Amino acid sequence: MLLDQDSKNNLKNLFGSCIGFDEPMSRHTYFRVGGPAEAFIVPENIKQLAEIISWSRDKGIPYIVIGDGSNLLIKDNGIPGIVILLTKCLDKIVFSGKEKEPVLVTAMAGVRTQTLCRFAIREGLSGMNFALGIPGTVGGAIMMNAGTSYGSVSDILDSVNVMISSGALLKITKEEMAFSYRKLSWNNNLTNRCQGAPIIIDGSFRLCLSDPVLLEKEAGKILKKRRENQPAEMPSAGCFFKNPPAGKTAGQLIDMAGLKGARIGGAEISAKHANFIINTGKASASDILDLMQLVQKKVFDRFNITLEPEVIIVGV
Ligand SMILES: Cc1cc2nc3c(=O)[nH]c(=O)nc-3n(C[C@H](O)[C@H](O)[C@H](O)COP(=O)(O)OP(=O)(O)OC[C@H]3O[C@@H](n4cnc5c(N)ncnc54)[C@H](O)[C@@H]3O)c2cc1C
Repeated sequence: MLLDQDSKNNLKNLFGSCIGFDEPMSRHTYFRVGGPAEAFIVPENIKQLAEIISWSRDKGIPYIVIGDGSNLLIKDNGIPGIVILLTKCLDKIVFSGKEKEPVLVTAMAGVRTQTLCRFAIREGLSGMNFALGIPGTVGGAIMMNAGTSYGSVSDILDSVNVMISSGALLKITKEEMAFSYRKLSWNNNLTNRCQGAPIIIDGSFRLCLSDPVLLEKEAGKILKKRRENQPAEMPSAGCFFKNPPAGKTAGQLIDMAGLKGARIGGAEISAKHANFIINTGKASASDILDLMQLVQKKVFDRFNITLEPEVIIVGV
């Protein structure tokens, strides 16, 4: 562990009721697994967020930020250092009206992606419907370049504001970011300047004027299709593996390898969608990781294809 008693006292004095220690991360992930975060902070505002990250920088203690934990697999021994949850302090949507197109809508990183989708439909703004049904926050969606067969975040993002390790804010346009399939990479200049990965504070999205009734109708169809194809009732992190660049999808390969229903401990390959690993109730992170490796091995042996996890694995 990385925090001695003095550091813990110091953090408690600085952040009071916003900080807890040894917080089970299973409470903060969709998988419902994960050991404790050594320190777990829920800042109440941006100023407090800046204080936390400059404290971490000064003390050399690592931190990670999380949104809703819908794409995270946290290992059983937890996370040394600090975990920062952003859903409380970054929760506003702002837009400057519909006078000209594209309409720019700015959502803070802790806003739920579904709240933003619903906001866009109500306001008669098209462009967000591709993300209907994707759990998590706007910050997580930008980091993951979240998407579906209808589109992805990089199609509509205009710019982000990020916080760097000094606590300062920086605007970055989409042209300065490198998006790929389910991934945003910051360029080296920026991470050097930030002394680490920047924290997304908000994202501005380019949307177009449309008819709320038509958007709602489209939303109904998209959500119905998701309900039919995904085991949303069981804890998971959505699609576990990225699809290979060409050919069959990860789900098809796993299915063809005969792995639907395969189980290790409480982790199971969903019979409804083979790219979902589900927690049947009492899975540990190790069960899920063991099942991940089994899938990778079987798919590689059969098709000579290495499946790469889409889920972000953190912790020790
Ligand atoms: C049932 C189910 C269905 C899903 N379907 C889809 C789908 O159709 N398409 C899809 O793309 N994904 C899907 N997902 C995966 C997941 O919902 C998305 O990746 C989502 O956008 C993650 O958001 P989050 O807030 O939960 O991020 P988290 O899981 O909390 O974090 C994901 C990553 O982003 C980083 N991060 C989060 N917020 C910030 C921030 N503000 N600044 C910097 N880094 C940050 C975290 O450190 C972590 O590395 C699904 C998941 C589930 C459980």
